[in-house]
Amino acid sequence: MFIRELSEPVSNLTGVGKAARLSYAALGVMTFSDLLNFTPRAYEDRSKVIQIGKQDDSGLVNTFVVVKSSTFFGAKHILKVVVTDIAAPDYERNLSLLCFNRNFLKDVLKPGRKFYLYATVGLNYGELQSSQFEVISFKDDEPPAEFGKILPIYPLSGTLGQKSIRRDVKNVLSRVQRFEDEVPQSLMERYKLMSFDSAIRQIHNPDSIEMSTMARRTLAFGELFYLQMAARRNGVRASYAKGEDKISEVEKRFIDSLSFKLTPDQLKALSEIRIDMSSGCPMNRLLQGDVGSGKTLVAWIAALHAIDSGGQVAFMAPTELLARQHAENAAKLLEPLGIRVSFLTGSVAPKQRAPLLEALKNREIDILIGTHALFSRNVEFGNLKFVIIDEQHRFGVQQRLALMNKGQTPDVLLMTATPIPRTLALTMFGDMNVSTINTMPPGRLPIITHLVPEKRRDEMYKAIGVEFSRGHQAYFVYPRIDENPDNAIRDVTTMFEYLKNVYPGIPSALIHSRLDEETKVGILRDFSEGKISYLVSTSVVEVGIDVANATCMVIDHSELFGLAALHQLRGRVGRSSLQSWCFLAFSDNLSDDAKLRLRTLKDTNDGFIIAQRDLDIRGAGEITGMRQSGFFNLKYGNLTSDLTMMQEARNCSDQILESDPGLIDADHAVIKRILALDSDSDDSSSYQISK
Ligand code: ADP
Ligand code: MG
Repeated sequence: MFIRELSEPVSNLTGVGKAARLSYAALGVMTFSDLLNFTPRAYEDRSKVIQIGKQDDSGLVNTFVVVKSSTFFGAKHILKVVVTDIAAPDYERNLSLLCFNRNFLKDVLKPGRKFYLYATVGLNYGELQSSQFEVISFKDDEPPAEFGKILPIYPLSGTLGQKSIRRDVKNVLSRVQRFEDEVPQSLMERYKLMSFDSAIRQIHNPDSIEMSTMARRTLAFGELFYLQMAARRNGVRASYAKGEDKISEVEKRFIDSLSFKLTPDQLKALSEIRIDMSSGCPMNRLLQGDVGSGKTLVAWIAALHAIDSGGQVAFMAPTELLARQHAENAAKLLEPLGIRVSFLTGSVAPKQRAPLLEALKNREIDILIGTHALFSRNVEFGNLKFVIIDEQHRFGVQQRLALMNKGQTPDVLLMTATPIPRTLALTMFGDMNVSTINTMPPGRLPIITHLVPEKRRDEMYKAIGVEFSRGHQAYFVYPRIDENPDNAIRDVTTMFEYLKNVYPGIPSALIHSRLDEETKVGILRDFSEGKISYLVSTSVVEVGIDVANATCMVIDHSELFGLAALHQLRGRVGRSSLQSWCFLAFSDNLSDDAKLRLRTLKDTNDGFIIAQRDLDIRGAGEITGMRQSGFFNLKYGNLTSDLTMMQEARNCSDQILESDPGLIDADHAVIKRILALDSDSDDSSSYQISK
């Protein structure tokens, strides 16, 4: 029997009534197997005696005591019970148990009585004291069940206590003679896993802390392995049919026309894309790489590949500003090759819209670039074959699906410049292939980041002045548009005037989200043509603006921005072979989190490390905005620390499906059985919780 086969409801257990059942339900525990997979959040090591006075820094005492006295003290009339070790009469050390809100213990902890004690103690006013303790009475020749063990500590809810959960778990474990292993024996051996039977018993009642760690590792491997298996099965298993890496004439011409060479990572991504595209089943690929690493260029070349084989391409960007920039770039790059590029957003007037839509239907447009307007109902493609989504995390799943449904299962390329840590990518996109651009185009100097406290702002302004005198440009970013008399947060409006005095005669412009689209586009054009030396802006410059001559990024009140946003903003500079700087100005009295964020930015330019750090600081749900997806509710695996294991589980499932797609091998029979069980339970509706 597999652990997951225990489908009886917990209410079948003796001692689990309605209240307990509802409390369990609140913890997501409905069935026996849920209960076994309900992992302890910690353990209490009560395996060895630790006498009073012999505790280490943790302050834990685990021993047998006799009560010496019991008195009330203070205005609040608190019970204070003095105990000492039974086994150490010659080592007499007193411990005072302070029974806050537990005065009823007066009738239990009577002088002369003996107890088993588990407590956290500390030294107060020269006296050993404890207010966190557990006392259990026992018979002389029979120590209590709690002693000598490593006890599991479970998350609690409602009426449940540690004791009742331990009892229920024990009850379920005693019903099964032996649980079967859940992964093939070859993997059990290769990864030196514990048997699943030992693992599920050891995770609840470990013989040692090491055993509990090994048990978790085994169960985590099983969990991650089936996560990958399921993703493969539901997703693009057919993409194992290999395509070929054949470059078209037009691609070659385009690549040759570039003034630079593609980086090895770009070439690899392109080759992976071509293989996907020719494999006979739709591509589902994530292209991730730091800002400025050359993803968009890869996308254009991939688009040429699709167009060459007769398809149309949709390119979706998250904002109108970005879409317009992409469209201008695409026109510049691709129209000379005879590619027909068009642009569609919500603001395209109906008069131009109608002929555009007509042309799209008649395949007179090769690439349509736009915002979410691309998937409004009246937009019809003649033959949509390839969908590119920029900054994929900004779109919802629904919007993506809507666009994909416009073609006959088109190839899809998602791009993200907010790198997703490897573990997250593998979990979320287990059904998706990932191409990563790790290296920047050659000749780029790492951006130098300075943290600028209030008292050093003048030096910062001076340094940027020097850059202006060299003909370079700068961004000044502030968190607010308007002045707010209540607080000391600098705003763009005020600072725009202020900076005019700092840099007299240097042309500048103010840009923020309240300007209309045309004004914004005009300003950005002037900036990119060098007519404006610096922009004073809110975070509208966060994504996609590409001005190679800009070498300074100032982010004021940087303590108010998130890590990902700061990294994106910083990525606006350092886009050429010029040395660039990022100044993170902050106000005094930083919070600890803010300090950690700014320190991270100063320490590294690597977006992957930053994303991982962000994950550590904020947790997995926040980073992708997929908090409620439930996708991350791993029971045993840890998205941050099980990176290698996740990778191994993925490799294993790949290898197995590739070498034995029908799972016919005797060693793989177990996979087949478990997948069958899982798909059954997917169909059945979940338990009804009646009140
Ligand atoms: P991303 O989309 O990853 O932010 P882009 O594709 O917009 O990056 O590239 C950023 C800049 O670098 C663009 O100006 C682009 O033309 C240039 N670029 C791209 N690939 C290379 C390369 N291999 N060598 C030099 N410059 C490159
Ligand atoms: Mg980009």
